[in-house]
Amino acid sequence: MERLVMIPGPTPVVRSIQDQMGRPIQAFGDPEFVADYKGVIDDLRTLFGCDGTCFVINGSGTLAMEMAAANVTKPNDAVLILSNGYFGDRYAEICKRRNLDVDVLQSIWGQSVDLNLVKDALKNKRYTAVLATHVDTSTGVCLPLPALGKIMNDFPETLLIVDGVCATAAIPEDMREMNINILLTCTQKAFGVAPGLAMVWADQKALQARENLGTIPDYYIDFKQWIPVMDNPARYFSTPSVNLVWAVSESVRIIQEEGLSHRYDRHVRNARAVQKALEALGFKILAEPEVRAATLSNAIYPEGIDDAKFRAKLYEEGIVVAGGLAAYAGKMFRLGHMGNVTTHELAAALSAIEKALDSFGKLPKYGTGVGTFLEALKQ
Ligand SMILES: *Cc1c(COP(=O)(O)O)cnc(C)c1O
Repeated sequence: MERLVMIPGPTPVVRSIQDQMGRPIQAFGDPEFVADYKGVIDDLRTLFGCDGTCFVINGSGTLAMEMAAANVTKPNDAVLILSNGYFGDRYAEICKRRNLDVDVLQSIWGQSVDLNLVKDALKNKRYTAVLATHVDTSTGVCLPLPALGKIMNDFPETLLIVDGVCATAAIPEDMREMNINILLTCTQKAFGVAPGLAMVWADQKALQARENLGTIPDYYIDFKQWIPVMDNPARYFSTPSVNLVWAVSESVRIIQEEGLSHRYDRHVRNARAVQKALEALGFKILAEPEVRAATLSNAIYPEGIDDAKFRAKLYEEGIVVAGGLAAYAGKMFRLGHMGNVTTHELAAALSAIEKALDSFGKLPKYGTGVGTFLEALKQ
């Protein structure tokens, strides 16, 4: 049975992107592939306002996180982590292992780190970098990135690194406008491609910071190994994932055709409608309304619902959602609605959720969720 994968990544992959992954292989030095690779790198730079280099390499989001940290910090450098959940904590762990001097501003799950505290921290200590998760997938909280970018204006000696894994190509991010020095993501979330590629954008300031470090201990993720390849993909450093590069290229074509601002609007519209529907069905959304992400919904169960059984029921219905993490394991499920997912797919997911609720005797009335969703989309 083909199931609809509605977890917060991998997200559904549309046919035209699947077709790129199924193409006969080409040599990575084939002039056709070299042109395709170069094209996607250039388009990605333009899309997010990058005046430096975009690295598109084999790996996952976590590799991209390590790559960003490795290229602009050295042991004992101070970094400030803004953690709105599990992935912020992961970034702290990555930085600790690199022997950085790590300070963490931690929010209560469901809220976002207070930006006044960020400002105070930056005033009191000189940080090499601020590392922020745009949307923490564990909580569904979206950090107010434009406001953080404004704060960074006053601290030009500190770099801003943004983990955009659950946001890039779904929620506005512009490196120039938001003072982002390194932005990172991977293919399986809002780009709607299978897992396999990491994407890291570094602006001129970040590239200069890398230059200032001299030789670094990291080999595969060293910007300097890749800069010549990203400039001219006919050069070899390590074998690119040929078919996934084509797949991203098709994803970028879809993004350009839709237009970034339309894509951002669509995500907000769908998210608000889904969230309204889940609330009408008796779920609570973990993230506070003012910081609620447009890319996924973390829905806390009403009393009397067993998480494993609920998700098994959805699975039977052909819908796959993710469980909660850490303290919220067993207490909520996570529904992704980013990338190229359609309103029809969301309506299908909601109808399966209604069926699952009904099996627990917890459904107000058939149509409550789907109806609320469709009504909300009209507005
Ligand atoms: C998924 C995710 C990651 C990790 O990406 P992987 O591809 O699983 O390594 C990192 N940060 C955020 C915000 C994510 O949502």
